[in-house]
Amino acid sequence: MRKASDSYQACVARTKAEERRDRLLNAANAVQQAGQALREAAAARNLHDLDPKGFKVPEIADDDFVDWAYENGMQTVGGRVIRDELMAAPLNERCPLCRQGTVRQLDHFMPKSHFPALCVDPLNLVPVCERCNLIKGNKRPDRAENTLLHPYLDRVSHEGWLDARSIHDSGTVRLRFFVSPPASWDATLIARVKNHFRLFELGKRYAIEANRAISDVTYSVERQRKRGGARMVRFYLEDEAESRFAVDLNSCEGITYRTLAADDLYCEGSSGQDSPSSVSSL
Ligand SMILES: [Zn+2]
Repeated sequence: MRKASDSYQACVARTKAEERRDRLLNAANAVQQAGQALREAAAARNLHDLDPKGFKVPEIADDDFVDWAYENGMQTVGGRVIRDELMAAPLNERCPLCRQGTVRQLDHFMPKSHFPALCVDPLNLVPVCERCNLIKGNKRPDRAENTLLHPYLDRVSHEGWLDARSIHDSGTVRLRFFVSPPASWDATLIARVKNHFRLFELGKRYAIEANRAISDVTYSVERQRKRGGARMVRFYLEDEAESRFAVDLNSCEGITYRTLAADDLYCEGSSGQDSPSSVSSL
């Protein structure tokens, strides 16, 4: 990842108005120090302790600075390179906050309204989908427990932390997703993931995706059932789940198939043959 100072230079070096450019270049030191403070707090896992007072830029009003360095700066040739690199980072353009939407915007993890000096720091710029950006807004952490997951700093995808249970209701089956933390997680990380899950309405969003996945396999499941009963259905679903987990241990589809494979009622065909129409939310 590029350094804060490199990104800043790329964004402001081509500012056309000379007087404005000089003022921006004079602020380079403050931007570099802010980037350093961000990295130290990230390493110590205390982003929630950062005081916005230390993230102003001297002699330039906050709004002007964000306007000049970020809004205009990211439109310049140098700024566009930074922006394109950040936007291209997520695999398959998938939003790292919800793991569902398509990345469309850059979110300032520490909001630019409170931390203007971090407005073009790559460590503070997270490519996200429109919906996640809207939900997050200007929220900033004030406790360790409500620090949202930072895609560059918090690597939780190498462990399974998502699970679901099936619910049968009027001939349909639907899934309720929940956070199932690995034993190695401490209480703070568990609270953070649960908070993240709740804020971005992941339970509701994953339940909708699960409904789609259930609809999509209805035909194949029925065919397997005719071939070899519940046993064949189970094999089929376990195979589908395994294929998803090979790519992503917390794959919503994978968890859907695994949960259904463990559901005797569903596999036997006593419930869940119809396309589901109801959605659970947490
Ligand atoms: Zn998203």
